[in-house]
Amino acid sequence: MSSTVHHIRGPQNPLDRLGRPLHDLRISVMDRCNFRCPYCMPKEQFHEHYRFLKSQERLSFEEIVRLAGLFASLGVRKLRLTGGEPLLRTNLADLVGDLTDVPGIDDIALTTNGVLLGQHAVDLHANGLKRVTVSLDTLDREVFTRMSGGFGALEQVLAGIEAAIAAGLTPVKINAVVERGLNDHTALDLVERFRGSPVIVRFIEFMDVGNRNQWRPDLVVPSRELAARIHERWPMRPISENYKGEVAQRWRFDDGGGEVGFISSVSQPFCGACSRARLSSEGKFYTCLFATHGLDLRAPLRAGTSDADILQLIRGVWHGRTDRYSELREQLRHDLYSFGCRAPPGHGRCQRQEADQADGHGRSAGALPAGRRGGAA
Ligand code: SAM
Ligand code: SF4
Ligand code: SF4
Repeated sequence: MSSTVHHIRGPQNPLDRLGRPLHDLRISVMDRCNFRCPYCMPKEQFHEHYRFLKSQERLSFEEIVRLAGLFASLGVRKLRLTGGEPLLRTNLADLVGDLTDVPGIDDIALTTNGVLLGQHAVDLHANGLKRVTVSLDTLDREVFTRMSGGFGALEQVLAGIEAAIAAGLTPVKINAVVERGLNDHTALDLVERFRGSPVIVRFIEFMDVGNRNQWRPDLVVPSRELAARIHERWPMRPISENYKGEVAQRWRFDDGGGEVGFISSVSQPFCGACSRARLSSEGKFYTCLFATHGLDLRAPLRAGTSDADILQLIRGVWHGRTDRYSELREQLRHDLYSFGCRAPPGHGRCQRQEADQADGHGRSAGALPAGRRGGAA
């Protein structure tokens, strides 16, 4: 199947140094979260005195919409609203409505932990949201409590999923991060619960996002292993991707029970087709989930810089993009922890952590939690 990306690529649309177009933009609309998942925003670090952004430090809806328009003119067709927890942002449905009017944008999605979805699903859909992804790692109450940092309520998340289905935000996708020894034994329960429903469960390999999430390679359950376990119970076969660059590998059950997906960022990296950029809540433009530096777009926006000049900035960064962290993970982690850090990866503190804490905002290399930049690689 030919790439959708190629159909929409015009002469103005930049390619990066590896020939990849800019097609998806993940917009973090809120740095705060009402969960403290240890793999993303561990509560030891994101404690009650942690300095999150002040509201005027976050991009306004107007600024987000303006940037979305500029990105769309460079080839972005798909927006995903994320966070932190995006539904903590007041009047998020209004932003969705404004974004649907941006010429060129033909798909708007949302990733949420689901707790507030029951309250907002109808409004979001009415304002033009097409799809929603709900993060739900397990149905086991005790494991859920651990994996949400003790803040989440499983019933509310399940009610949020039901509300999304009722509102027509289908198919609802579920993202489940799998960590060996923590929730991998509950993975089949998730599949069983949602087989044959308008919900697609996707398993995500635990990633080393940030350097404080206690990541170790042996805690990753490779998708291949998990797929084999599921296949043993409900035979299934791989099916083709919906579009070029889709992050999940899809498998369909032989008995008509629907499909499951696997996001194998660690064991089978997919940087080669990565056309995703990220905009953080404070307006930094990142070209990779693991990027060390982001380009500040808020300053030029607030300084009255013209669209043409901002476009030039964005184009310049994308032209120079070489990111492929997941493909180079082993080497990069080796280099990172060989220089000036005595602690092994995932353990204790290193100089980068110190520097980051001094900065006070989680902005330095590799220390940015997924919540700040919004999710899966
Ligand atoms: N709060 C929302 C949520 O949880 O859906 C949106 C933001 S969250 C950062 C986006 C996605 O990133 C979630 O599906 C989450 O599970 C995933 N994620 C966060 N940290 C991760 C990690 N270390 N490894 C794999 N996935 C991660
Ligand atoms: Fe919050 Fe989502 Fe990160 Fe969990 S994964 S801490 S819900 S931002
Ligand atoms: Fe894209 Fe970076 Fe993830 Fe590779 S590691 S798939 S370049 S976001």
